[in-house]
Amino acid sequence: MATSRWMWCAVMLGAAVAVAAVVGAVRAAPAEKSPEPAQPDAPAVVTADTLHPADGKLRIIHFGAHPDDAEIRGGGSGALWAEQGHHVQFVSVTNGDIGHWQMAGGPLAQRRADEVKAAAQVLGIESSITLDIHDGELMPTLENRKTLTRLIRQWDADIVIGHRPVDYHPDHRYTGILMQDAAYLVTVPFFCPDVPPIRRNPVFLYSYDHFERPVPFRADVVVAIDSVIEKKVDALVKIESQFIEGGCGGHLRPLPDEPEAREQRRRDTREAFKRRFAAVADKHRDRLIALYGEEAGKKVRYAEAFEICEYGRRVSDEELRQLFPFFPAKK
Ligand SMILES: [Zn+2]
Repeated sequence: MATSRWMWCAVMLGAAVAVAAVVGAVRAAPAEKSPEPAQPDAPAVVTADTLHPADGKLRIIHFGAHPDDAEIRGGGSGALWAEQGHHVQFVSVTNGDIGHWQMAGGPLAQRRADEVKAAAQVLGIESSITLDIHDGELMPTLENRKTLTRLIRQWDADIVIGHRPVDYHPDHRYTGILMQDAAYLVTVPFFCPDVPPIRRNPVFLYSYDHFERPVPFRADVVVAIDSVIEKKVDALVKIESQFIEGGCGGHLRPLPDEPEAREQRRRDTREAFKRRFAAVADKHRDRLIALYGEEAGKKVRYAEAFEICEYGRRVSDEELRQLFPFFPAKK
């Protein structure tokens, strides 16, 4: 008996080391997510129940390829969920360290991680983390599949959001592939056994894009974000390296040094984003009317849209309304 107990302890210790390695790879992961190391005489068995006691609230994890993607595509919905007390985590799968025309490397990665944390504060969402993977170099590897699987389980997600795998940027595409690859494996106990499998397969969603080939985006869910539009654009202009200084293409439109020029760029950026989210509402007006009713649906000015992924849990129209508790009750 003693021998088998010590073998179990050794396994638990090994698992704890593996978990520590993953947590170490995640920049500024929330402290409460780090499991305690197992003690030889009292193994700490971490279960999904002990990670996040059920509080009746939804848990949403949104993967963006770069530190700005989740904020652009899901910042409004994130703010709406957060206003109702639901738990939202944004994850930037790469660190954005080549996303500027003038600076790069560690200082840029740190700056971008700080920017999305500031944006998360404005949106009111609970958590924003940036993985330490180089921008432009994300690959759909086994290691990355395990990382996303662990993050979905650790967040105990009801809803997982990511890019479609047919987006223009390789990091976007592979974020979509990695999310899809995790969609079933999050439920399989012996895949990444160091983190307990998720209790219920989440619903997986694609965030909005405008690409047509091989298949265009299908707007299954369209969320009116009018009530949080100012909050959303306030959050986006916190991401200065991208939207004020111009990101990796900023050399084409250099920003003058004067503070007034920066302020003007900030105003222009806010208006450009509003036009962009208004275009989403106009493009998917029929779906807005179906979800909000004729009168309210026609009035919506700004929207975010999501497509339901075929993998993960299938949802009824009724459950969709529970997961997006923003639509009026169906008459
Ligand atoms: Zn991106």
